[in-house]
Amino acid sequence: MKTYLVFPPHWTATEPYLSCPTLTAFLRAHDRDVVQQDANIEFYRYVLSEDFLTRARDEVQERFDRLEAKETLTLDEQDRYQVYTQALLPADNAVANVEQSLADYKNPEKFYDLNEYYRMGRVHFAALKLLSALYHPSTFTFSEATSRYRFGSSLEVFHAVEDRNENMYIDFFEAHVLPKIEAYGPGILGLSISSPHQIIPAFTLATMVRRKLPDVHIVVGGGYYTRMLVSPDRLAALFDVIDSIVVYEGETALLRLVEELEGEGRLDRVPNLLWRDDDGAVRVNKPFHHERVDDLPAPTFDGFPLDLYLSQKLVIPYLTSRGCYWGKCAFCTSFETYKGGYRQRSIDLVMKDLEQLSRECGSNVFFFVDQATSPASLRRISGALLDSGAEYFWQTEARFERKLDLALLEQMHRSGCRKLLFGLESGHQRVLDLMEKGNRLEDTRRILEDCQRAKIGIHVFLICGFPTETEEEADASVEFVLGVDGLTASPGFTYHVHTFGLETDSRVGMNPERYGVTLHPMEEELDQFLHYHGYEVAQGMAPEMHERKLAEMQGRILQHVVFKDYPVHGPHNLLYLVHYGWKYPEPQDNVAQWKDLSYENLLAFVPVLADEVTVKEFKFFVPEEDGAPTQRPEQPIKLIGDRKLIQVGGHSYCYIGRTERSWLISQRGRALLDLCDGNRTVEQICLRYEQQHPSKMAFLQATNDMRVFIQRGALTKAGNQAS
Ligand code: SF4
Repeated sequence: MKTYLVFPPHWTATEPYLSCPTLTAFLRAHDRDVVQQDANIEFYRYVLSEDFLTRARDEVQERFDRLEAKETLTLDEQDRYQVYTQALLPADNAVANVEQSLADYKNPEKFYDLNEYYRMGRVHFAALKLLSALYHPSTFTFSEATSRYRFGSSLEVFHAVEDRNENMYIDFFEAHVLPKIEAYGPGILGLSISSPHQIIPAFTLATMVRRKLPDVHIVVGGGYYTRMLVSPDRLAALFDVIDSIVVYEGETALLRLVEELEGEGRLDRVPNLLWRDDDGAVRVNKPFHHERVDDLPAPTFDGFPLDLYLSQKLVIPYLTSRGCYWGKCAFCTSFETYKGGYRQRSIDLVMKDLEQLSRECGSNVFFFVDQATSPASLRRISGALLDSGAEYFWQTEARFERKLDLALLEQMHRSGCRKLLFGLESGHQRVLDLMEKGNRLEDTRRILEDCQRAKIGIHVFLICGFPTETEEEADASVEFVLGVDGLTASPGFTYHVHTFGLETDSRVGMNPERYGVTLHPMEEELDQFLHYHGYEVAQGMAPEMHERKLAEMQGRILQHVVFKDYPVHGPHNLLYLVHYGWKYPEPQDNVAQWKDLSYENLLAFVPVLADEVTVKEFKFFVPEEDGAPTQRPEQPIKLIGDRKLIQVGGHSYCYIGRTERSWLISQRGRALLDLCDGNRTVEQICLRYEQQHPSKMAFLQATNDMRVFIQRGALTKAGNQAS
């Protein structure tokens, strides 16, 4: 019986995920026919294309024009008007440059130039905005896909899979996944779900396959449903569409499933399987099976389009161990996805795997995606790499352990380690202790400083709003990070702050009173909802404050950081460190050089519209966008906000893609910009304007406007635009 494995959207686009490659290798090692498809990266390629974006822009423009033809807009129309406007402003740039930007990710000269790197990211960001507008109110970014349908409700998920207007995956699956599955003719379809953002796409595909190929056994696996084991009965509705769910590790379970379906079909004999029996009860097959990691083959990426990932070089994911040797952090449930304890693969096999993967994937850069690599493992791996003489580069996740001393860090650097990812979580000792992180901040500081000395880059994860955390304690996290000598300004520093998410099966979820938490009753409809309970806290920041505090924390750190891996997250900073070593050219701020423009220089300036600048007329006022960057124009654009919005007519926006800044400009501003053809000086432009609009103040007002346009980067010196 043949097996078809799919990794569905939505996941990061920078490197492949390991689940399907691990299962594929295992089934093949047992002589089974299996193919795998990374539908996630193929989906990105599908939407990040000139053809798709052209159609998207034209459709959004049409809808926008229909709204502009109206005299008034209802609240819902205002909402759409705003979304369409924000999507259309950078749309031409996205359409024109998307294909080139994809190619530029592979071009070292572009990828390793931060100005170019950020530009590529902006093009893709604008493209995803257009996609979101097309499927409004669904949204799509590089890290999240949301829709009006909550993934936590099976009822809503089943509605989402039928909604062609708002489900952006249906067309893609019909064109690029379903035909391949049909052509292969599998007996089993496996869908890997590790993130809640994959639930709607995965069940969309499952529903389509169920209708088209009703005899195919559909099995779902991955971390998300393993955590649902706290209440498996809540999964019952899913079995209307799928046949089974594999929890914990999937290799032996999937092989046994294949064997059973080839034979007697006794699902009760397949380890780690959840299924619905004839009486409608959800059955959980125990005891759970855990793999001996040395018995497993190396993963294979055969069948994945390795050249499509958004990265100059493929960063190969690899596991040197399974499980977390610490396993105590109160907010965490990741370690629960491996029940069999901390298991390290023997070093000889690790070295063999790395050699094989490097050869097969054409890259020598690895991300050891272990939950936490212990100091002993780091010593073992770096020692073996040095002995082998192989030139590999790598990063991994680690904990702030005292044993991580300078000598070990230097050995790791010599072996190719260029970056470590740490869950710092908090810069306040009381909060850390409550989280049961097991770290002392003085050790943490010493390790972060030693990493700088050893020239190993750092990524820190911070949590905002752990129960009882006060605003002052959250501020202490920022101050701790900023206070480590040279950390944020180092070329290898990246960070991520996220709000605390209360997971049902975490220690906080299991013992809420210990953390001063009162849980709201779970909405009955949210049968698949595992993660974020509504809750209240007895002390500290209330949950509704978290987003604001998060934005403040992000912003305070960001201004000190050299490598801003926005909007595409991933191991790109690692590649920069591999390429340049400890120093690389910082991006040039083309605006800064025009800030101190003297009056004489201003008049002699020959301006032209800068790259990524759009000037467009809108009939209605447009609200300031939610979650926009903190640097907003002095006069933010306001929504009138009443039940009806009246046309104001004839106002233009100037939008600068490079800074994502937009502001309302006057008719004078619009006229001046139209005169900036790259052949006239500012003086000539202002004189021309004065002739056309004679008044006492015309010349002065025009020069002031021109100064603002230049200082904000809307205009640049003729000849300065990118070719
Ligand atoms: S947060 Fe990391 S170190 Fe802590 S228990 Fe989870 S996986 Fe282990």
